[in-house]
Amino acid sequence: MSHRFPALPPLTHLAPPPLDWQDGAPHSRTFDDVYFSRQDGRAETEHVFLHANRLPERFAQWAAPRPFVIGETGFGSGLNMLCAWACFEAHSPPGARLHLISTEKYPMRRADLAQALSAWPTLAEHARVLLEQWPPCISGVHRLWLSDAVTLDLHFGDTTERLQLLDGLVDAWFLDGFAPSKNPQMWQPELFDAMAARSRPGATFATFTCAGIVKRGLKAAGFAWRKEPGFGRKREMLAGEIVAPPADQRRKATPWFTPPALQATSHVAVIGAGIAGTSVAEALARRGVRVTLLDRDAPGAGGSGNRQGALYVKLAAQTNLQSRFYLAGLMHSRRWLTRLDPEQRLWRDCGVTQLALTAKEAQRQARFARDHEFPDTLIEALSPVQAGARIGIQVEATGALDYPQAGWVRPQALCDHLAQRPGIHFRKAEVASLKAQNEGWWLTLENGETLQANQVVIATASLADSFHQTRQLPLQAVRGQVTQLILPSCVANLKRVVCAGGYVSPAWEGVLTFGASFIPGDTQSELREAEHQSNLEELKRTLPSLVEALEKAGATLDPTQLTGRAAIRAASPDKTPYAGPVPYAEAWQTDYALLRKDAGQVGLTPGRHHAGLWISAAHGSRGLASAALCAEVIASRMCDEPLPLEAPLVDHLHPGRRLISALIRQPPA
Ligand code: SAM
Repeated sequence: MSHRFPALPPLTHLAPPPLDWQDGAPHSRTFDDVYFSRQDGRAETEHVFLHANRLPERFAQWAAPRPFVIGETGFGSGLNMLCAWACFEAHSPPGARLHLISTEKYPMRRADLAQALSAWPTLAEHARVLLEQWPPCISGVHRLWLSDAVTLDLHFGDTTERLQLLDGLVDAWFLDGFAPSKNPQMWQPELFDAMAARSRPGATFATFTCAGIVKRGLKAAGFAWRKEPGFGRKREMLAGEIVAPPADQRRKATPWFTPPALQATSHVAVIGAGIAGTSVAEALARRGVRVTLLDRDAPGAGGSGNRQGALYVKLAAQTNLQSRFYLAGLMHSRRWLTRLDPEQRLWRDCGVTQLALTAKEAQRQARFARDHEFPDTLIEALSPVQAGARIGIQVEATGALDYPQAGWVRPQALCDHLAQRPGIHFRKAEVASLKAQNEGWWLTLENGETLQANQVVIATASLADSFHQTRQLPLQAVRGQVTQLILPSCVANLKRVVCAGGYVSPAWEGVLTFGASFIPGDTQSELREAEHQSNLEELKRTLPSLVEALEKAGATLDPTQLTGRAAIRAASPDKTPYAGPVPYAEAWQTDYALLRKDAGQVGLTPGRHHAGLWISAAHGSRGLASAALCAEVIASRMCDEPLPLEAPLVDHLHPGRRLISALIRQPPA
């Protein structure tokens, strides 16, 4: 049993499986095996996976506040998962939730998936929802919302590898995958060990096969199995359970990241109504948690208060944990916004083009494109001419990377919208202090009033370290000013957001927004001519032909006449957001003091936390790509659900990470 997480495998563009179609049903050319039988595939799924796991009865009795979790090996056409969803709809009591996890190393093309699922007209609506959100075929975790009650996490990559990286526990397993004789690489002892270690006590499993390698593997991992009648012509199949799963050992090498014990979630207070706080409030309210959202100002009055902001990321030439988090965040934000606002009143999926303006940047982009094989639907390298055609204006760049999934958002309007969602009560009030009491929290407001909640999430950007429990959190305030001007009607609007040193969005309601300045350590928010000037200069460098057209059309480009908005954002020293439980910093200093002498002396003490206190902060100027995924990380952890990221990425966001790196770096005095 490993004491640490396996390293994250490289980010990979997973090739679609070569398929033959037999009577309209997909057949894998690589494995020479079927995904399901066209005549009775659905009946087989119901017999083998649903009934052998006793799902109709278990769904009907499900009364826990957390969701029932199914784990599947091999998503394939999604038939099993859609059937589980339909079965849950038919049997579950009101308020119950279902969480589906499925791995897939060879995700189908959307068109193939659509064709495969067209075999099941009674699942047409379920299939439509899945197809609409089908993610780019890139390795990693993709969280899809199938309905208010049902979530699907697609873990793209090799099954065993994915289960070893999973942060979550399963109630029932669908042990699928092509037959062991056709796909022996998958049915290895490590697969059964990973399943056992990710099981809740009493978790069940069912599988179509009775192969010896499967029986032996399951038994060795701790599962008890029995033979049951198979479906149709198959005489036998296996089902069973694991009573006492092994303990998760993977955080032994990093005990400080051990998640805190669960606390009640009937009422959670979220402090800060910017994009970080409102997205946490929405994620909790969606799970039925009553939320009080507090801010001294209106929603989106601080760093999230611009009319328009770019939803985009900048990825390191060699993908590191931070880049992987941001890429996952971008795809997540996009699905989240689509579900929240399908009419795009609050955002636009117009795409973002990053221009290289120097030879060095062009080289970096070229290296990036060469070393990563991203699907074009996610990131595409473009020539300057192609970039110009997409943006709708001639560009003088040396290269370009295009992000079709990205776009722009109206952050202020989005915060306002989220603060009014059902289950969220917004209160305009400043929180002066926090006190833990009787397994809950008392919040003292500036006006002397108090408020009680089971748990608290701090999402107050650069002020997130102003509570006595968070004062050791390394945070830096960063001033940013955007500039706005009226786009003359004779100047063609941009078709995409364009970034280089700064960014410029397509004009919205006739106003062009661009910027932003980036001044670390500055906490003043008045408008400054000098920053309008530098934003203009940056715009000229990025899109000289746009500035020329503006000048020709007589647009106001005088910095003394320009309008805009300045606000303070917050950044961490490593530029990754903080999302997770608040560490009890003083305890960490003593519990892990030996790290100063020897970085190998990790000890065994699990990280002590301020129980029930959480933080989402340090989103810098990329909050639109990071906040929604961070909100999901926090809400999933609080509500005892599988996490929407691989465990090493969850740990990468932990608010205590800097305490540990500081201990390792500072030898004893
Ligand atoms: N559950 C599927 C359904 O409902 O349509 C059918 C699964 S199909 C029989 C087997 C699936 O396992 C294929 O989609 C295949 O690509 C996937 N698979 C095979 N080996 C794998 C591995 N090592 N890791 C992840 N997925 C794998």
